[in-house]
Amino acid sequence: MISLIDPVKGFWTAKGHHQSWLALQEVIEVIGYNQLPCAQAPDLYHPNTNEKHFLQTVTDACKKCPIIKPCGAYALKYEKEGIWGGMTASQRHKIRRAGRLSQ
Ligand code: SF4
Repeated sequence: MISLIDPVKGFWTAKGHHQSWLALQEVIEVIGYNQLPCAQAPDLYHPNTNEKHFLQTVTDACKKCPIIKPCGAYALKYEKEGIWGGMTASQRHKIRRAGRLSQ
């Protein structure tokens, strides 16, 4: 089980997409899925719009989430679509690109 004391570290040391996904699921299990803002309206986190106010409202909801750090760490590495960890797909893409450019 991933320690909730340092859940982000657990993600970066986990090997591969599947293991990281399982690690995120373990954290969600401990917290309780219903405690996550996205559990209230999952479809909002996979929007078909780029409308700025809408995206801001949804990413703001993530900021109240108890697992925003591990969720964001997982999504930065593996998720190309949707809102995860308080970031849109476009924001994550920019962060990944900036990381590659600075290496
Ligand atoms: S941080 Fe992740 S788990 Fe939390 S509400 Fe946002 S998308 Fe859902």
